[in-house]
Amino acid sequence: MAAADDKKTLARATRAYLAREADAGRGDLWTLAAGETPRPRKPRAPKAEAPASKSTIATLEAVELTGVPGLSPAGDTLDQIAHEVRGCTKCGLCETRTQAVPGVGTGKVGVVFVGEAPGAEEDRRGEPFVGRAGDLLTKMIQAMDEKQLIPGVTLSREAVFIANVLKCRPPENRNPLPHEIEACSPYLKRQLALLQPKVIFCLGKFAAELLVGAKGTIGGMRGTVYRYGDSKLLVTYHPAACLRNPNYKRPVWEDLQLMAREYQTA
Ligand code: URA
Ligand code: SF4
Repeated sequence: MAAADDKKTLARATRAYLAREADAGRGDLWTLAAGETPRPRKPRAPKAEAPASKSTIATLEAVELTGVPGLSPAGDTLDQIAHEVRGCTKCGLCETRTQAVPGVGTGKVGVVFVGEAPGAEEDRRGEPFVGRAGDLLTKMIQAMDEKQLIPGVTLSREAVFIANVLKCRPPENRNPLPHEIEACSPYLKRQLALLQPKVIFCLGKFAAELLVGAKGTIGGMRGTVYRYGDSKLLVTYHPAACLRNPNYKRPVWEDLQLMAREYQTA
């Protein structure tokens, strides 16, 4: 009896220790040992958090405000869009970019991740999410795959599609400006219209507000399953936010799990 109690106490202490390590950014949530399942726990960092279990299809009115799916012209292809993006001069960011960053991946499994805008490394390499935040996104995708979050579906950067709201880097990584989003978002909308993904996963406020079609906070929007055309659309914190505050990793992982469940009924 006493031995059993000791074991329980030790297990509890170990879990608490691992949680503290993960929250401090030392234990990496996305490189947990195989077979380990994330510990369900209320997210701590964000205030006024939407309950993680909340899963409602948003009313269509809410989604159709401005998040109107763009039409893809007949014969459009991802390559054609990438070609246009690389030569684009529709906004001032063409003056400061090294190169434009159209997107990466095939999207063949029907999952699209949408971020904000290229950073320094992306601008150098012409590929989205290849800097520090990108490494975290890659780990998230790998963790989803390793844990078979979507049973039978292999997830990789190649199998999904990864893109941004803006295709060119804003100087000093400043926030996208409204006229830049207006000029650039038709490219993303054409990509989505072509890919017709099962699920669109928005990383951060700029992707979320653009595609949901309403202003809001990530805390208020996450946990809701929106619609974008025929796709389901979910929202979570940007990986860069997770780098600044590891407490965001737990809710992000819960949102990925919700996305995986929604994928299976899409
Ligand atoms: N890298 C990207 O490509 N997009 C972001 O939003 C952040 C980093
Ligand atoms: Fe064109 Fe978009 Fe680059 Fe502006 S950010 S120049 S609209 S591709």
